[in-house]
Amino acid sequence: MNRIIPLQSAPAGCDSVTPLNILKERGQREVFCGLTGIIWLHRKIQDAFFLVVGSRTCAHLVQSAAGVMIFAEPRFATAIIDDHDLAGLADANEELDRVVNQLLTRRPDIKMLFLVGSCPSEVIKLDLSRAAERLSKTYTPRVRILNYSGSGIETTFTQGEDACLAALAKEIPQVNEPTTQAAVDLLIVGCLADVVEDQFSRMFTELGLSSYAFFPPRRSGNLPKVGPNTHYLLAQPFLTDTARVLEELGAIRIPAPFPLGVEGTEAWLAAAANTFAVQPERFEKVVAPKRERAKMALERQRKILDGRSIFFFPDSQLEIPLARFLHRELGMQLTEVGMPYIHRQHLAEEIALLPKDVCLSEGQDVEKQLDRCRSANPDMVVCGLGLANPLEAEGMTTKWSIELVFTPIQGFEQAADLAELFARPLVRKTKLAA
Ligand code: SF4
Repeated sequence: MNRIIPLQSAPAGCDSVTPLNILKERGQREVFCGLTGIIWLHRKIQDAFFLVVGSRTCAHLVQSAAGVMIFAEPRFATAIIDDHDLAGLADANEELDRVVNQLLTRRPDIKMLFLVGSCPSEVIKLDLSRAAERLSKTYTPRVRILNYSGSGIETTFTQGEDACLAALAKEIPQVNEPTTQAAVDLLIVGCLADVVEDQFSRMFTELGLSSYAFFPPRRSGNLPKVGPNTHYLLAQPFLTDTARVLEELGAIRIPAPFPLGVEGTEAWLAAAANTFAVQPERFEKVVAPKRERAKMALERQRKILDGRSIFFFPDSQLEIPLARFLHRELGMQLTEVGMPYIHRQHLAEEIALLPKDVCLSEGQDVEKQLDRCRSANPDMVVCGLGLANPLEAEGMTTKWSIELVFTPIQGFEQAADLAELFARPLVRKTKLAA
């Protein structure tokens, strides 16, 4: 399980909470499990296959989260743990070997196979790391076989990406010699849509950086080399375990806000530019036109969102960067900003940009939080799918947090699209009420 940064104990409510005194709750939670991450991970790593070792419920979750996409050659599937597998681990291991053999014989295009653990595989104590080791002996070098857990026990859905990338990061070749040119200087870490990655790539090049790479790579064989000269820049705020593995390889984190909105994107790029001593004039020349265009593009949504209130239930781990963007660039009022867990170091630059009296909460006690939400009666609620329908039925306007993870939202060119995701439901509601 991911490291939880110890925070102060919970006060009675959210009224007197400041960023240094975060409301901490450990009650019933309403979140998706880490299997959900397969939906964007399989699009990003284009020659990888994700084999969930789980139940029919797991299969159903992955299928429904993938929507109605029909693949000629799908890149995820579920090896179903049936009743007879529960009878003995030997059977389950044999069955898994048989399924993997069938899959890899039929699909020579698969270069990396992730065995993805689930609640059922954990309950029967099926050791997928040993299974991955055993199967690797048979299929290496044709296919790399790794494993991670997407189990819903004690996790939230974006931790699936973290667990997957941490497993992949362990495969990164380490370069120990500080003077060697083999290791990459800058590693951008976290799944970004290809279109966003291409935009950032052009900007890093224009800034004069030549030795950079994105992680995960689009092809599993293109793993970058990492060493003591490597600095890494997180593109997502939920990569605790991945960051730890990279630091074990010698990489150094560049502290920065996350690239959401105009301000976040500029600060994120500036953090990289400062690390590599890019001249301020050059930075301004590259960034200014994009920044000014993006600021202008936000004007329309600002007119809709300014002064409207918003409440975040903890779900995606994007809540604090989103709240910072919506408050500072669009004038929204923050009633409560909930996160499944708060990583103080990775989020320090974000928290510093929030208003001093903001109500932050960590973890969840869903009934108490629903009461606080009803009492705040915000104009918009950001939450998981499970809470959205009941809250809509009570007359609230909701935004599904999972949609914000699927959609390209990072960078200057996406700032207005991100704002639009919040403005549209409010406009629709106004029209319906008219
Ligand atoms: Fe449900 Fe657990 Fe399977 Fe996720 S991993 S779908 S929480 S059984």
